[in-house]
Amino acid sequence: MQLESKLPRVGTTIFTRMSALATSESAINLSQGYPDFDAPGALIEALGRHAAQGHNQYAPMAGVPALREQISAQLQRYRGVTCDPDTEITVVPGATEGIFCAITACIRPGDEVIVFDPVYDSYEPAIELAGGTAVHVPLTAHDFAIDWQQVRAAITPRTRMIMINTPHNPCGSVLSRQDMLELQDIAEHHDLLVNSDEVYEHLVFDGLEHLSVLQFESLRQRSFAHFSFGKTFSVTGWKTGYCVAPARLSEELRKVHQYVAFVSVTPVQLALADFMREQPDYAGELGAFYQNKRNLFLGALKDSRFTFSPSQGSYFQLLNYSAITTELDTLVSERWTRENKIASIPISVFYAEPPQQSVLRFCFAKSDSVLLQAAEILCRI
Ligand code: PMP
Ligand code: GLN
Repeated sequence: MQLESKLPRVGTTIFTRMSALATSESAINLSQGYPDFDAPGALIEALGRHAAQGHNQYAPMAGVPALREQISAQLQRYRGVTCDPDTEITVVPGATEGIFCAITACIRPGDEVIVFDPVYDSYEPAIELAGGTAVHVPLTAHDFAIDWQQVRAAITPRTRMIMINTPHNPCGSVLSRQDMLELQDIAEHHDLLVNSDEVYEHLVFDGLEHLSVLQFESLRQRSFAHFSFGKTFSVTGWKTGYCVAPARLSEELRKVHQYVAFVSVTPVQLALADFMREQPDYAGELGAFYQNKRNLFLGALKDSRFTFSPSQGSYFQLLNYSAITTELDTLVSERWTRENKIASIPISVFYAEPPQQSVLRFCFAKSDSVLLQAAEILCRI
């Protein structure tokens, strides 16, 4: 049988490949983004309790009401916005699924979606499967910011959606109020939808503030905002997140969600609801926690040959190695995993047209001793 791939250019993700290589080479793994420390004990304990109490059957399609109430309370607390838990919040099995459903619900064959390079790897396959085309606009060379002039120039009558990601993976850049106002202006003017990936919302540093599309009234009316409990509560393996969108957009998203996954895991949702009710301050303390990790890592690299600007948000730090070698980042990341036992992510793979730059991404969601060990290796390179 002849099977023509619908995604001929897609292989196994760089995260899976680099983590597998790190394991087989017994290297320190700062490649794939996940914490090497455990989630809060009370959260894990609550999961066990709910499973033991028999909460093991299907949850309501849009999510357990107690969890949606807590999400709504946290959106009020941290972003100052009021969201209706029944009509505007959908719990999903990971932000990846929420993003996929939002794209699938809205993009038709021939539609164009503006994405910014380097772009998180899950967006373009979803756009292509929906029959759309990703239009790649590169972030600016040194500070990885959005050039809004270039965005305006990329818009055509077929443009249907803009996808943003703040704080940004892999660059660690954070969109400013001015950026959000530009986005709002463009989206309004061209009647576009916005898909906003905010999974690292609580991981912002140096006094910066995360701004959500939900905080800009006109933007909010045309946006899907995606969040992930995996990042906030250090449970990436629980694959649970949520999407916030106006009722009419949530309704369309749910039509897809109910046939992609249908529901998210019941005892996980109940545990998250308990934990958020009992420890509402937890998320607010994450920025300081990860800023300390970033500072520890960068402080230990000060005598290395790498150059860097401190990450503004997310748990990723870019390091420029142009003083060390001119090799491609894809080759360097592999070679250093094998030879120096330190794994990272090459960022050229996230570009349609990779620029001439020598940059690797390192995840600093790791215990302090691992970060110091990693920095010691990097200082020797
Ligand atoms: N967007 C970005 C930018 C991410 O880094 C991730 C995390 N891997 C996701 C989406 C997906 O999150 P989840 O694990 O909740 O699907
Ligand atoms: N988002 C995580 C990262 O950037 C990885 C998730 C995945 O492996 N798909 O490393």
